Amino acid sequence: SPGAIGNSLIPIVNRLHDIIAHLGNSSSADLHLPQVAVVGSQSSGKSSVLEALVGRDFLPRGSDICTRRPLVLQLVHRPRRADSPEGGEEWGEFLHIPGKRFFDFREIRREIQPFLFFGLEVLASEMLTCAETDKEAGENKGVSDKQIRLKIFSPNVLDITLVDLPGITKVPVGDQPSDIEARIRTMIFSYIKQKTCIILAVSPANADLANSDALQMARLADPDGSRTIGVITKLDIMDRGTDARNFLLGNIIPLRLGYVGVVNRSQQDINLNRSIKDALAFEENFFRNQPAYHGLSHCCGVPQLAKKLNQILVQHIRNVLPGLKSQINAELVTVAKEHASFGEVAESKEIDPCKDISDEDIRLAIQNATGPRSALFVPEV
Ligand code: GDP
Ligand code: MG
Repeated sequence: SPGAIGNSLIPIVNRLHDIIAHLGNSSSADLHLPQVAVVGSQSSGKSSVLEALVGRDFLPRGSDICTRRPLVLQLVHRPRRADSPEGGEEWGEFLHIPGKRFFDFREIRREIQPFLFFGLEVLASEMLTCAETDKEAGENKGVSDKQIRLKIFSPNVLDITLVDLPGITKVPVGDQPSDIEARIRTMIFSYIKQKTCIILAVSPANADLANSDALQMARLADPDGSRTIGVITKLDIMDRGTDARNFLLGNIIPLRLGYVGVVNRSQQDINLNRSIKDALAFEENFFRNQPAYHGLSHCCGVPQLAKKLNQILVQHIRNVLPGLKSQINAELVTVAKEHASFGEVAESKEIDPCKDISDEDIRLAIQNATGPRSALFVPEV
């Protein structure tokens, strides 16, 4: 479908990857698409938001299930091959199970499940271990040792890394130290402080938005708000008579890149195996029927969140293009000199592999970033 974002972004990114590959091993050029991380308090809907963006069911979610370790999800673009078997072109692989391909996304979820826990106690001790190792092993190391790394290979994804982070807990449980919250925050911070990390600051609309943990943390890591998108979840279960309109408009806590309100699947929807497609239809219907959100279509719904993310990615690509071009030119000069030193007549021809990607391409990519489906997964045609 021509409206879907991947259709406009994936070809450009592919072409850039080709160009980079041609630059050879000596080249340091890389696209380094930004990493996207979700932060927020427990059960705020972080995993739900990521899953809706990817468009696949594979993250365990639940009111009493928490992400115990950072889940680093690398989407890897694999061109479709004519001879690949039905369903054989999309699979997942875990770092801790080398060589095994998971073609069934439900199986992926079952594999992640043991890394999650039910109830707070376990989280506490586990997080403690993370933080402890972190201290001993030096910044970031202990945490990354504890990561779950999952790669999803597909013809329908952009090469991008998403991070599902454990939620911020407030109340120490059992023999937890009183600074457990600080330790978890330190770990989250080690991810979101990176300048290339896009922060999705997730706050549930049925809690006090003005005290959002997510927004507080995001502000620490990204004070000028240049890489933070506010995401307000659970608009469907706000107290009757209240709405998040003023918040979405940035009237309460202004945010440079703004907010997007979403409605994800409830626990009941999950228990009933409601599909992502149904959930999107439900969300669309919700916004249509709520007068409070009329006129706010630019900041309502998962497709709008996808659009915002894509615009940031496009801007990133636009920013790296000049660097790529000059690197290519530098390599051309080097090669020409080498040729000259061999006494060959080097034909100096102006080659610019980037010239195919015009400003018009990029403008169209932005314009087309209005896909009715997910940002990162293009629907199968
Ligand atoms: P996380 O702990 O931040 O990763 O939160 P989850 O994504 O696991 O969601 C926690 C619970 O809230 C789950 O039972 C979800 O079904 C539910 N949930 C998440 N988002 C929404 C939403 O927008 N509306 C409703 N009704 N429930 C939601
Ligand atoms: Mg989660």
